[in-house]
Amino acid sequence: MPLVSMNYFLPQAKKEGFAVGQFNMNNLEYVQAITEAGKEERSPLIFGASEGAIRYMGLNNVVALARVAAEESGLPIALHLDHGSSFEIVMKCIRAGFSSVMFDGSHYPLEENIRLTKKVVEAAHAVGVSVEGELGTIGGVEDDLDVSEEDATLANPEEAIRFWEETQVDALAIAVGTAHGMYKGEPKIRYDIIEKVSQNIGVPIVLHGGSGVPDESIKKSISLGVGKINVNTENQVASTRVVRELLENNPDMIDPRKYLGPAREAIKETVKAKMRLFGSSGKA
Ligand SMILES: [Zn+2]
Repeated sequence: MPLVSMNYFLPQAKKEGFAVGQFNMNNLEYVQAITEAGKEERSPLIFGASEGAIRYMGLNNVVALARVAAEESGLPIALHLDHGSSFEIVMKCIRAGFSSVMFDGSHYPLEENIRLTKKVVEAAHAVGVSVEGELGTIGGVEDDLDVSEEDATLANPEEAIRFWEETQVDALAIAVGTAHGMYKGEPKIRYDIIEKVSQNIGVPIVLHGGSGVPDESIKKSISLGVGKINVNTENQVASTRVVRELLENNPDMIDPRKYLGPAREAIKETVKAKMRLFGSSGKA
């Protein structure tokens, strides 16, 4: 099937209490691994492509890889711009074939974030593309984003509810204590914020920085209204560990298929485990 908007599965996720994983693509092997995992789990999925990944792979390659994956697997797959930084990049991605976009205006004052996000929603919805907005500042490092612990600010529930009412985004990322990248300790998730916001908006909440969050915390977050969870770091850790080990143990290995193939397998297993944990297995 063709790439779908997140509205193909997010309303069902909110209603039935599961979450759909966004798995970031970094190269061909990631796309193959994530798609295979989806096929084996019969799970809907979201390919996340950051601006950094788009620069690395090329915009048209990103779209082509995702399209082929959706067509050949028959799975409901959304291709989603991760942390889009401007109206211009969002439009560029939609025109190239993205079925979903995130506009991250979280670093703007609330009024400006609402104004800019609304503009993105109007344009995207006109062509059937779903939009994720963000409120509060999620800490950690991811591609072009680098937010120190002091600068990370939790989302204010009243502001989050108003943000959704005015922008009508299809999914809302709010800062609730998770961070991009690896955790040093265990993240302190503010379940009260998730619960309060979720009860007052009509769409699922998005949890960024899903890597390394304990399974029980993930399950609790989903039960309170999280319907989309972003995972990237755990796949990077799992695949790089395999490559490092193989190359260290086999100094003569030069065929990329010999080390990227096993790395792909490691990503697939990681993604499958997440799909089961998120409850999206069997929902495609
Ligand atoms: Zn993020």
